[in-house]
Amino acid sequence: MQWVYHKDVIDFNEMSNLSANLRDKLDSIASFDLPLIKTQSMASDGVIKWVLSLDEDSHIEMVYIPENQRGTLCISSQVGCALDCSFCSTGKQGFNRNLSSAEIMSQLMIAKLHLNSTNQRITNVVFMGMGEPLLNEKSVYESCDLLLDDMAYGLSRRKVTISTSGVVPAIYRMCDSTNVSLAISLHASDNDLRDELVPINQKYPINELMEACHHFINSGSQERHVLFEYVMLDGVNDSETQAKALAKLLKNISAKVNLIPFNPFPNTQYKTSNRSTIEKFQDILYSSGIRTMTRRTRGDDVDAACGQLVGKVKDKSKRSLRDA
Ligand code: SAH
Ligand code: SF4
Repeated sequence: MQWVYHKDVIDFNEMSNLSANLRDKLDSIASFDLPLIKTQSMASDGVIKWVLSLDEDSHIEMVYIPENQRGTLCISSQVGCALDCSFCSTGKQGFNRNLSSAEIMSQLMIAKLHLNSTNQRITNVVFMGMGEPLLNEKSVYESCDLLLDDMAYGLSRRKVTISTSGVVPAIYRMCDSTNVSLAISLHASDNDLRDELVPINQKYPINELMEACHHFINSGSQERHVLFEYVMLDGVNDSETQAKALAKLLKNISAKVNLIPFNPFPNTQYKTSNRSTIEKFQDILYSSGIRTMTRRTRGDDVDAACGQLVGKVKDKSKRSLRDA
């Protein structure tokens, strides 16, 4: 594990303190097959986006976001997503397959190999790339174990976050399986609107989701909070009344809110809320005592929404097939 995770060596022959016999044996039973880098692009603000190819039909995205003292890696857990949230470019591509834990971890390896050369570090990992991590529980929990393990990446539980659109039974299982942080993609505080934006709400409505969040907070031995993500959609979920309703919903829970300006993509019906609307929304939450941040839009000159890069690669391969 030290060779692989601390020294980034992915060739058994270079693991010089292992006996030749052991190296041969390892070589015959295991291999390091990293996904292919299909595209890699850096935006002017330092954000790096990769499209990785797992096999011919399976592409995923990964994003590195450098900040002052932090470097956050946003990784994927599935190829596509079955949950079809109405504002999500990944959802529009449908579901292809789950990633194995090796494929999840290989994203870190690829990012690390690149970042070593620029002296940048991964301090935080978020499952906010493609896919719903709580519909690929086994591989995601195995990966979380490695992210937290001192023999591997040794990150603190606060620096690893699973983001879910609200797979309620899995949130309970997550509490028993891993100690990492929880983010909920809320996006609406009433069931009618959330049913429309995040269809899994029809199965697991807001009151059940909030109960699961309370369970998460109470099940940790240390103090915990839940991060609520709220995508700001112009004229859909961004009114003052909706801000007050959100403040009311989150009144009795240890919460942080992350307002995310909507990232547009081709053929979407939505627009991003105005900056002043977002500020007003944030002020209302803030004055109700809720810690609220607005996510800065990063890496804009590389592409727009998450899921869109893969969309582009797919379109290209469809085009070349058609041309052929
Ligand atoms: N499936 C998980 C994690 C991946 S999505 C989930 O839904 O939580 C990561 C975050 O990006 C979620 O909060 C999601 O709602 C948000 N998101 C998806 N599409 C977006 C878009 N076009 N603009 C802004 N945020 C988006
Ligand atoms: Fe899937 Fe998350 Fe996109 Fe919804 S927002 S479709 S759960 S990836």
